[in-house]
Order: sequence, then C-alpha cells, then structure tokens
Amino acid sequence: MRSNDLAPYWMPFTANRQFKKAPRMLVSAEGMYYRADDDRQILDGTSGLWCVNLGHSRPEIVRAVQEQVATLDYAPSFQMGHPLAFEAALRLRSLLPDPLGHVFFTNSGSESVDTALKIALAYHRARGESMRTRLIGRERGYHGVGFGGISVGGISGNRKQFAAMLPGVDHLPHTHNTKENAFSRGQPDWGAHLADELERIVALHDPSTIAAVIVEPMAGSTGVLLPPKGYLERLREICTRHGILLIFDEVITGFGRLGGHAFAAQKFNVIPDMITMAKGLTNGTIPMGAVAASDAIFDAFMTGDESAIELFHGYTYSGHPVACAAAIASLDLYQTDNLFARAEKLAPVFETAAHELRTANHVIDVRNMGLVAGIELAPREGQPGARAYETFVRCFENGTLIRVTGDIIALSPPLIITEQQIDELFAAVRLALRSVT
Ligand code: PLP
Repeated sequence: MRSNDLAPYWMPFTANRQFKKAPRMLVSAEGMYYRADDDRQILDGTSGLWCVNLGHSRPEIVRAVQEQVATLDYAPSFQMGHPLAFEAALRLRSLLPDPLGHVFFTNSGSESVDTALKIALAYHRARGESMRTRLIGRERGYHGVGFGGISVGGISGNRKQFAAMLPGVDHLPHTHNTKENAFSRGQPDWGAHLADELERIVALHDPSTIAAVIVEPMAGSTGVLLPPKGYLERLREICTRHGILLIFDEVITGFGRLGGHAFAAQKFNVIPDMITMAKGLTNGTIPMGAVAASDAIFDAFMTGDESAIELFHGYTYSGHPVACAAAIASLDLYQTDNLFARAEKLAPVFETAAHELRTANHVIDVRNMGLVAGIELAPREGQPGARAYETFVRCFENGTLIRVTGDIIALSPPLIITEQQIDELFAAVRLALRSVT
C-alpha cells in the first residue's frame, strides 16, 4: 500500500505518524504464527492481543463461524432470542465457579467492565441501598476504554486526555514493588497488607456508600503484576464484611492464561461476585465479551412485576449469533485440547525460560505465572519506554511478535505453544536486548 492509502485509518493506541512511516503489516495467521506482508513468518508471543489462546485460524472455529453466518446472520437481542445465545451462556456457565450462574453478553472487554459496574449500581438500588454508588479501582489497573473503565482504571496515560470521569471513584494502591518482590516466581510473598488500604477507603467514605471494588486478579496491560500471596483473599474478606461487590476483571486472565483453570478466580480460589471477560471467549475471532454474575445478584433483579424489564441495559450485538458460534466452538476446543491443563504443565518450562532472561541486558525484573511473563527493563535515561519499544521492533524484524508497555515486555503466547517455541520466543527477546542500547 502507498503511504497515502494509510492516512484515513486512525489507529488505536498507536503512534500513527511513526507507524505509517514504517508499517508492520500482518496478512494471515495459522497456529503459532502470523505471516507479514513481506511473507515472513512471525512467531506469535502475545496471542495477538492476549486473545488467541487456542492458536490461529482453528478450522473448527472457522467452520462454525462460516456455517452460522450463512444460517442466521443476525437476530435481535431485545425481547427476542436465538438458541445459540442460550447455549453459549450454558456452556460458559459450566466453566465458571459457583455461584456465578448467570451470563450477560457484550462485545468487548470495555463493554463488559461498564456492564458490570452498571449491574453493581443497579443491584444495590434494587435492594434498597441506592446510596451505594462509589466504585473502587486500583492504581495501574486497566479496565478498557469506556468512561466507566477509565474512571476505575489506574493507568494515568489512559486518563489524562479525558477530563470527564465518573464521580465518586477511589483507587487502591498498586501492588508492584521491585525492591521487595524482584524476580518472583508466581505470586510474590510481599504485599498482602496492601489490601488493607481498602479498609481505610471504606472508613473514609463509609461502607454504605460503596458499591463495588474492581481489580484484575493479575494486572496484565500495565505489565504483568501478580497478586501478592493472601492479597485477593483479604480483598474478598473486606468486601464481604461490608456488603461491597467484588468484581474480577478477567479479560486477560480468563480462558487458561494462568494455567490449570479457566479463570484466575479458580486458580487463586477467591470467588468474586462478578467476572468480566472477552478476548479468549471467542479466541479473538469475533468480538465478544461477557459478564458472569452471581445467583444472588441475578435474583435481586428477578423480583416484582414479571412483565417489567429488569435491567435497562444491552447492546444491539449482545449474544450475536456468529459470535456465539465462535464462542461455543472455542469452548469446545479448550475442552477437547485440554488446554488449561496443558498451560499448567508447560508453566514450569515457561518460567525457567523467562527467568533465564535475568542475565540479559537491561533486565531489572522478571515475573510470571502460567503462560504469561513480564520482563521489566531499566528505562533509558530521559526516554521512558524507548528501550522496550526498540526491543519490540527488533523482535518483529527478526520474526517474533512481543508486546511492550512502558519499559515492560509482556509475553503471553497461545496455549498451544511447544517447548521448542518457548525457547525460540525467549531467545528472540534475548537477542533483541543484546542489540538495544
Ligand atoms: N479489561 C482488561 C483487564 C483488559 O486487559 C482489557 C484489554 O486488554 C479490557 C478490559 C478491554 O478490553 P477491550 O479492548 O476488548 O475493550
């Protein structure tokens, strides 16, 4: 494409002018690999954007989508139903921990987050506690880009351009501390006490004003921050004690990323009142998200006049038939490939390979769990983020897709990765770091 042809597309979360001078274009994908427009094979170290957990272009999903679009291309989602939406919810329910028995469909992680926040507010109101309007997020949290999501989110770069935020939002401190926890494997030992900050916030505002706490059980987009041992348990205990809903944003951690289980809630054995998800739900093939809510939340709405709409919320494409077909095919594959167990089995190999980067240039921390690793670099003086960005470009030139955020490299390959490909992935990062100053 000529450079003028690139102008109309306003790219998301991208330095548009820099990109269009030297575009990186992907044109096809299969299994563990992308193909670039110059016909180079690119090892996918990031599952696209944390979503292609099953690997690319799985024939079963392709077929399900093709057949569905030719059978029922679209069906209205308000006051009408189609069987696949009910089936997708039923299938998803079988992966969810009790008592998360109900599923509301959205089209993205951002919509899932805003939906969950709205359900939290409406839930308290339905129970006669309409004073509970405050929402608590966490510093460095990423909850998508809707106004709800950026308000409870804690990445300042995503907030500062937009003055308008939801009122009545407060934030927990983040849990990152390289002095205490550098090079930790799995959950770090230090930091459970940071959950007690919630007690301080609750005391400040009074529990009767607080609707919900939302956190990523493992903060992904900010650069892979694992929850300290005991931290999530304490959040759960404080929320329960004060009648505050706990929401886990599992848009990244859902569908086996941390190994052994579908969701981080199960991995950490801490069950929230709602889980938000997207990405791996359809393996990234068709946009789709969902909110799983507890039976108690759902039941609070199912009272009064049966002819009244219980929740004034929904999207034209909630439970879109083609997205549902992709979700059902993906959930089938997670099961038939036994992929959550596979991720757990590969995790020690991945961990060892990740921590071998300890000796690579610029590396000041490595942290990991399941098939995700964060590799933090010392920033170049006066140029934060430059070192990681250059590493990303070098890797791409050498045939590997990694992801960087600030000066942190985040690796999260499809769960079908082989041991040899794990070695290749980390070798590519080491090689790139060797040539970055
Ligand atoms: N929540 C979390 C935890 C995420 O990681 C993301 C995206 O990375 C989102 C929400 C937003 O999802 P989407 O980009 O699909 O709106």
